[in-house]
Amino acid sequence: MSKKNQNKCSFCGKPKEEVKILIAGLDGHICENCVAQAKTILDEEFFSHKSTNKSSQLKIQKPKAIKEYLDQYVIGQDEAKKVMAVAVYNHYKRLNQPETKDEVEIEKSNILMVGETGTGKTLLAKTIAKLLNVPFTIVDATIFTEAGYVGEDVESIISRLLQVCDYDISAAEKGIVFIDEIDKISRKGDNPSLTRDIKEGTQQSLLKLIEGTEVLVPPNGGRKHPEQKLLKVDTKNILFICGGSFDGIDKVIAKRLKTSTVGFKKNKEEDAIDRENLLQYITQQDTKSFGLIPELVGRLPVLTYLEPLDKATLKQILVEPKNSLVKQYKKLFSIENIELNIDDETLDFMVEKAMEYKLGARGLRSIFEAIVNDAMFELPSTDIDKFYLTLEYAQEKLNKSKMAKLKVA
Ligand code: ADP
Repeated sequence: MSKKNQNKCSFCGKPKEEVKILIAGLDGHICENCVAQAKTILDEEFFSHKSTNKSSQLKIQKPKAIKEYLDQYVIGQDEAKKVMAVAVYNHYKRLNQPETKDEVEIEKSNILMVGETGTGKTLLAKTIAKLLNVPFTIVDATIFTEAGYVGEDVESIISRLLQVCDYDISAAEKGIVFIDEIDKISRKGDNPSLTRDIKEGTQQSLLKLIEGTEVLVPPNGGRKHPEQKLLKVDTKNILFICGGSFDGIDKVIAKRLKTSTVGFKKNKEEDAIDRENLLQYITQQDTKSFGLIPELVGRLPVLTYLEPLDKATLKQILVEPKNSLVKQYKKLFSIENIELNIDDETLDFMVEKAMEYKLGARGLRSIFEAIVNDAMFELPSTDIDKFYLTLEYAQEKLNKSKMAKLKVA
């Protein structure tokens, strides 16, 4: 690039002094004004057939297509995928209903997902939001109670949703909120206690939000203060997906299954109960017994479960999804012009360790990272262009890492 060209925008010709920023390309520069103008051209080109209002850009796919899309990113969990595909489809069908007076009112299909940690609950919710191209946010139910009475206000969920869509209220009003660890706000045990009250209070305050209400949120996401102009957001069309591991709910299910058969003759159906995976029999009654208040259970009418991940599924997760860990690390190495080859037995070893540490698929990433970290540190400064990740190498690196100190429960 000639020195002369370094000091002006190659598009409008304005010199460096007259613009705020010059972004350098291979053989030229572009200023902020030209970037903005280019963005307008792109928007007109690609979105001219749609309204500029984001909320009307909802891509509604048929349930089968939703499941096929999920299959690209999430391995297994067919039951949960089907249930979610139908729920999401119905939810957006409901939104597209013209408002007529005597129309049957379709109720919101908020979802409750139950399954061990690291089995794909968040991934499912996130992937659906990506498919629909709607604003999406994840909140942890515990932030509302951890600090006791000074915990965050449940309305902060809506502030977060607004933040991710640049305060486009109508887009946020059709977004998806994933509330994780909903089981942690269960009122466990029958003894009245302060924490029990706080948890029940949190569930109560979530009720309205989930069902649909108008909330006023500060425009900058901070705390409300008196002279501030507040933004009004209606939550009636926001889809709420709640998730939790509900540790110990299998005992509740087992108890119910047993009691419900008392007095009946032992029949085939009872024999066929799969004791290894009781979650598949979960009902709303079980989530109530676990400690969700009945009103909240009622507002989460779609209930589904996620299967625990076995070795075969964990291995598939390593390799198959569109952005699987193997694909991601191969890409990271290929950026350095290094070809990464991983032996099959190395993958099996990673899977075994993930099972051992009981971290679900979430453990795979930390294990992978611990194994390849040294190589990622050293290799970019060498001219090595092939890296074979063998079993011995993986064992040695993992043994030396902090992961090896994880106690197996
Ligand atoms: P959960 O919300 O159930 O605790 P996540 O959805 O956050 O678990 O999963 C953690 C990580 O593990 C995800 O980022 C994803 O990479 C991986 N993962 C978990 N389950 C699956 C699955 N069924 N298919 C593909 N990847 C998965």
